[in-house]
Amino acid sequence: MAGDICDVCGRGNVVGVYSSSLGAISFAYCEECALNDAEPRGICVWQILDCGGLDKMRSDIQLGTRSYMNGAYLSMLEVAESITDQERAKYEKDMNDMAGPGPAET
Ligand SMILES: [Zn+2]
Repeated sequence: MAGDICDVCGRGNVVGVYSSSLGAISFAYCEECALNDAEPRGICVWQILDCGGLDKMRSDIQLGTRSYMNGAYLSMLEVAESITDQERAKYEKDMNDMAGPGPAET
């Protein structure tokens, strides 16, 4: 674990692996990200898109979760406003991949 990279900010000095409040998954955290209750950007973007928008997200998650980008901690609103077309396309592709092939045509 020592020398590992923080899953939230990509910096070193991981102090622990904690479960995400956004899903059944755990991430490696540096001290600063752990203290900031930050989540990796990918899972925040995924949650926002999966809910169908920030306004449909549970308010405690919407208000209590932060992420990290370019040296700063962002609120979920800031994450939602900064979702790129590329991230949206990746989400849609992942959803299609997870759905797998549909019923065979007869
Ligand atoms: Zn970090």
